[in-house]
Amino acid sequence: MIKANDPKLESWIEVPKNSDFPIQNLPFGIFKGENQKPCAASIIGKKVIDLNALAQLGYFDDLAFNKNTLDKPVLNPFIRQKRKVWRMVRERLSYLLNKENATLRDNPENQGKIFHDLKDVRMKLPVRIGDYTDFYASKEHATNVGTMFRDPKNALLPNWLHLPVGYHGRASSIIVSGTPIHRPKGQTRPDADKPPVFGPSKLLDFELEMGYILGQGKRLGKSISTEEADEYIFGLSLFNDWSARDIQKWEYVPLGPFLGKNFASSLSPWIVSLDALEPFRTQQPKAEVEVLPYLRNKGKNALDIKLEVQIKPEGGKAKTVCRSNFKHMYWTMQQQLAHHTVNGCNINAGDLLASGTISGKNPSSYGSMLELSWKGTIPIKMNDGSERKFLQDGDTVIMKGYAQKSGHVRIGLGEVRTKILPAT
Ligand code: CA
Repeated sequence: MIKANDPKLESWIEVPKNSDFPIQNLPFGIFKGENQKPCAASIIGKKVIDLNALAQLGYFDDLAFNKNTLDKPVLNPFIRQKRKVWRMVRERLSYLLNKENATLRDNPENQGKIFHDLKDVRMKLPVRIGDYTDFYASKEHATNVGTMFRDPKNALLPNWLHLPVGYHGRASSIIVSGTPIHRPKGQTRPDADKPPVFGPSKLLDFELEMGYILGQGKRLGKSISTEEADEYIFGLSLFNDWSARDIQKWEYVPLGPFLGKNFASSLSPWIVSLDALEPFRTQQPKAEVEVLPYLRNKGKNALDIKLEVQIKPEGGKAKTVCRSNFKHMYWTMQQQLAHHTVNGCNINAGDLLASGTISGKNPSSYGSMLELSWKGTIPIKMNDGSERKFLQDGDTVIMKGYAQKSGHVRIGLGEVRTKILPAT
């Protein structure tokens, strides 16, 4: 077992019960403290850890990696140094924060330079995302959408069980949790017998997804096998892939998603390492047809991460509308990465791949309003008595995720929270 994952470890820093960020997590992000430039950070409990300050004060001096990479406004230069460096830094943090270790515990002066209360800092988008690819890897989601829009008898298209279907998304409009979005405008055709119209989308939706950020690149012409995929995955963040269903429905034939998708996607600020999530690996759903050799996936490659979506109306209380789990995904991250690169497509540190909407079998586990309201036919009650079929202006969508099982400490992904403002 990885030493930093030991459930017996405790820190001298207070960690509230059921915190997403115990000493066994130690995710990476970028923060901006008062009167300082953005730089690399981690978090324990409610304390943000300035990794650049730790480096400046000499706590990483004996570790062989480029410490200047921690003094940057994005994590790309740091994560490009490959998995052994990410591991080494997380292990060192675990060692310094351990309650048995006096090095930093008994140095209040240095603590003042290193730790910040989470409420006093701003979290930034953790990486400069060069390329973003979105998959469609939940069988339940693909079946639901195929049933609603095409044909219940042939809901899954013939390719679906043979390859992880995906498309290239837009990287420039990916925003960090806390950044509001405006309702998108566009062309729709609400009446099939009339010409299209222009205006604010009436069917604005979220998609509950898991984003994963690639840590090292691979050259053009090379591929990544399912076996080596983990070496390329820096970590996971919650991802809300906003969708305007009315714009999407009219525009998507024949080339796929465009303006119904590219107006915004929201990412949580902390990237949780595959190492921290190691205890929560589990078997993926059984393959229903034999896949080609390059997509074979040995061992446990799904992750048991509980997911939740809440809608908070303006001035009202948040209501949980969906509980799902990342382990439902038919195609794993390793298979997606192998498929993405099998043709020689290169990837770079900081690229973002997203799972696609994570729906389970149970209707309360559907990961979008499109499915929860079944194309607007089943209204969902909010705590204030109002109803939603799709999202309204003033709504805040909050996604949370954490892994928990007996014998292990809860590892959380934090949250991604975004408010919807009226169309401009
Ligand atoms: Ca999506």
